[in-house]
Amino acid sequence: MMMKKPEKNHSSYSINLVAMEGDGSFPCPKCGMPISPEDDTEENYKVINTKVVNDELAELIISCGKCGSTIKLTGFQQG
Ligand SMILES: [Zn+2]
Repeated sequence: MMMKKPEKNHSSYSINLVAMEGDGSFPCPKCGMPISPEDDTEENYKVINTKVVNDELAELIISCGKCGSTIKLTGFQQG
């Protein structure tokens, strides 16, 4: 018998951009929709929160525009 895990509507994920190649875009961990932090139209995602440390962006909390998952982005490269 398979036990069904209780699934929340809005899952949350964490992504370290250091591990990402190229322009820093990545697929949503849940629905696979490509999300690019460079895309400022907010059609694909919505910024929920930002965390700035020493005047530098340390964390970006976004919400997938398609499935609504909460995704925490870390590992922003400086310079
Ligand atoms: Zn999604």
